[in-house]
Amino acid sequence: MTALSAQASDINSAAVDLQPVLAAVDAVLGAQPRPVELHEPRFGARERELVLDCIDTNWVSSAGQYVTRFEQMVAKVAGARHAVAIVNGTAALHAALLLEGVKPNDEVLLPAITFVATANAVSHAGAVPHFVDSTWDTLGIDPVALDKHLEAIAVQRDGGWVNRQTGRRLRAVVPVHIFGHPVDMAALGAVAAKYGLVVVEDATESLGSTWNGQGCGTFGHSAVLSFNGNKIVTTGGGGMILTDDDDHARHARHFTSTAKKSHAWAFEHDEVAYNYRLPNINAALGCAQMERLEGMVAAKRELAERYLQAFSAFPWAKIYREPKGAQSNYWLNTLVLDRDYAAERDRLLAALHGHGIRARPLWTPMHMLPMYRDCPRAPLAVAEDMSARCINLPSSPFLAEAGRTNANQR
Ligand SMILES: *Cc1c(COP(=O)(O)O)cnc(C)c1O
Repeated sequence: MTALSAQASDINSAAVDLQPVLAAVDAVLGAQPRPVELHEPRFGARERELVLDCIDTNWVSSAGQYVTRFEQMVAKVAGARHAVAIVNGTAALHAALLLEGVKPNDEVLLPAITFVATANAVSHAGAVPHFVDSTWDTLGIDPVALDKHLEAIAVQRDGGWVNRQTGRRLRAVVPVHIFGHPVDMAALGAVAAKYGLVVVEDATESLGSTWNGQGCGTFGHSAVLSFNGNKIVTTGGGGMILTDDDDHARHARHFTSTAKKSHAWAFEHDEVAYNYRLPNINAALGCAQMERLEGMVAAKRELAERYLQAFSAFPWAKIYREPKGAQSNYWLNTLVLDRDYAAERDRLLAALHGHGIRARPLWTPMHMLPMYRDCPRAPLAVAEDMSARCINLPSSPFLAEAGRTNANQR
């Protein structure tokens, strides 16, 4: 950069007043003590009671009544026939891909815009992540772009589809419901069917979200949830595999519990398997949290509405609104800067942090990370644009209450 252009861009930056953004966020967060974290859990008497019950009864590990209870509560809310509790979301994705028949050297299609765990799980399975573009319609994988890309690179071979550029089999597609906003699963499902791809939903961010009235996590052959500390419901660490397929569920349970055959004392195992089941003590926390889910989704939707209002007349940035036909859990609220203001993103993040607001940028797109730089990919113009000008704002459910208090005071 020449001295002159450096100076010119400084002048441009200085011309944009960031104060109105801070004021709009302040109007939403009210008197909430600073700093305000991006997403925090809340625990109460019920969480304490159920976790203590595990300790008092000695049932803390990977067997116990809370695991079953937690699975039943989650299956019911999501609308899935079966739920299998797993030690975390990444392990659940790993196991789900293996259970769907993903083999070493297969390719698995996924959006470049996702948390790194989605790509890591593909790698853990020995497969190769193949990155696809996203759409502003949902923030998730773009079914139209996926179809166009596969038309260009996929060829039929031995009853399946192969990437003609790499010779590897195209096995599965993993749509991710980004920040709780559902992917258009009808369009995605049609493309997957056309190319014989298994659909494994990464629904880790979307528990409580629905699309056309149907719960996220019930569209693919199987789906995965996460109960990490920053998710809408937490078990400390935890995950879940959802499926409607009875045999698949049975195998998932077996495969994630060291494939031990049920017997009063004998240790018989019938395949190489994983120790991936969720401990009872974590499930107990999950049971207490699930009792709050409905209220938390309502609070998060209320907070989102407040953010939408605060930025509705804003000249150069808007809050992302849920896609048509969707009821999003609004896991994380997203501020989208106008294209001309993308260069302000990092200054704005610094200003927000300086103001005690723990905002963050979108994840670095997967194809820009060193270990995934050489992976196959579609054109990723939207993914790069999205990551350049989106900012996540604090979205804990209890912040809706802070806003209510503030509104009453005004
Ligand atoms: C949280 C998350 C995961 C992984 O879940 P962990 O429980 O943290 O392992 C996977 N994919 C996405 C998109 C996530 O947000």
